[in-house]
Amino acid sequence: MNEPRLIDLARTRGRPDTPARRHLARIVAAATANPAGILVDTAVRCRRRPGRRRCVGWIATRRQDLPEEIHWSCPACGDGGVARGWRQSPWSFGTAVRKLAEPAADAVAFTLPEPLYRAMEATELPDARTRRVVLGATHEEAGVRLEGAPDVVRRLQRHLASLAGRAASARRRQQVARIARLMARDLGPPPASAPGG
Ligand SMILES: [Zn+2]
Repeated sequence: MNEPRLIDLARTRGRPDTPARRHLARIVAAATANPAGILVDTAVRCRRRPGRRRCVGWIATRRQDLPEEIHWSCPACGDGGVARGWRQSPWSFGTAVRKLAEPAADAVAFTLPEPLYRAMEATELPDARTRRVVLGATHEEAGVRLEGAPDVVRRLQRHLASLAGRAASARRRQQVARIARLMARDLGPPPASAPGG
């Protein structure tokens, strides 16, 4: 186990963007998209390359709100750290969105293979609630699992359906179509109209 690195995001604000910072940003988003106090198997890949080969691990996080800390680690290589001062960072979901992460009886879920999840992760999403569902995804045997309130997941499904028609390349169009098919398999077809967008 390496000694965990402590990073206070409140003190590093305005620093230039680096791969390490982007990685931490993604970890903060995943941790604040999920409930506090539990271990989350995020959909974030470890970025270490021990022996010049990419680590196969996925980052696990545990967030506590008082004091404000996100503990993260890679179970495969032991890389890890503690982030503080994330609450005011642009990568952290605010309190209202964080509340949506609490387990709900009516939550719905769907699973995507990792490459399709990465494609979805890279799309511009309509709002913070749909972003929470995507960035808060967890990984499991079958792939990457996305879960959220039915109306939010439905909005995400409509968004994907709308992207299919304006994808820039044939490859992109195929990806979007495959995502739409897998969502429809798990959730049923997308609703035709959008109450409130
Ligand atoms: Zn690792």
